[in-house]
Amino acid sequence: MVERCPRCGHKFERGPGFWLGAIMINMAFTFGVFLLIFVGGMVATWPDTPWTSLLVVTLLLNALFPVLFHPFSRTIWVGLELAFHPLEPGEEIDAASFGTGEWSVAGLAAD
Ligand SMILES: [Zn+2]
Repeated sequence: MVERCPRCGHKFERGPGFWLGAIMINMAFTFGVFLLIFVGGMVATWPDTPWTSLLVVTLLLNALFPVLFHPFSRTIWVGLELAFHPLEPGEEIDAASFGTGEWSVAGLAAD
């Protein structure tokens, strides 16, 4: 992942431990998909649930989904974090000095 937004210069990692939120989102989505597949598979095949197949599928899912979902969880976290914790004036100035000027957070704040 790039360090900054190529357009506005916003630095994604705003402090130490910033990506813990993305990890939490990734875990929540992984658990949600796991539950959906596990319970869905169980309900769809009840009472002859193929437990071994369901175990293999859910184990693979729990190993692969977080890796594939990683970039999306980071994007979701950056968006949520910005929505709940807008940039400080110092961060806006920093972003403006790295952005292309095509669109800038600092320019938005001045309006
Ligand atoms: Zn941007």
